[in-house]
Amino acid sequence: MMTKPIFSSYLTAPWKRKYVEEKKDPHQCVFCSITNRIANLDRWEIFRDDRVAITLNKFPYNPGHILVFPLAHYEEIENLPEDLVFHLSLLIQRSIKVLKISHQPLGFNIGLNIGSFSGASVSHIHWHIVPRYMGDLNFMEILETRVLVETLEDTFNKLIQYNDMFQVKRSIL
Ligand SMILES: [Zn+2]
Repeated sequence: MMTKPIFSSYLTAPWKRKYVEEKKDPHQCVFCSITNRIANLDRWEIFRDDRVAITLNKFPYNPGHILVFPLAHYEEIENLPEDLVFHLSLLIQRSIKVLKISHQPLGFNIGLNIGSFSGASVSHIHWHIVPRYMGDLNFMEILETRVLVETLEDTFNKLIQYNDMFQVKRSIL
């Protein structure tokens, strides 16, 4: 009789395994692939300026789940130049503003996972912005069943019309 490993159910997001186990080769960085427009990975990009991009999360926890990240490859928050931290903060602020209009959530979770131990599956620093709704079911993720009331296409079409609202005026930078 086989002994069941103690941690057999430890990895609660098995679809992320291939990202977690990937060698951290910058050439394979999914965000750098997007920013360098390698392949067609920027399909879900809703905004880009000269330093920052915003895309839909391809594996959303909730409708309207977006990612805000610098175009340049940074892994540590303490290495980000301060003006870029400010720029990213402005884009996070604008994202909240747009999502409040496009999706009318009741709240938000804004998250930054640092290091693979935290659950970060991509080392290129990126902020998750997750709108929260009445009765949304976080635990469904653990069951590997996605219950989403909106397709990525729908989310993209809702958000892309507010593209202008993300623009940061040169005068405040
Ligand atoms: Zn990168």
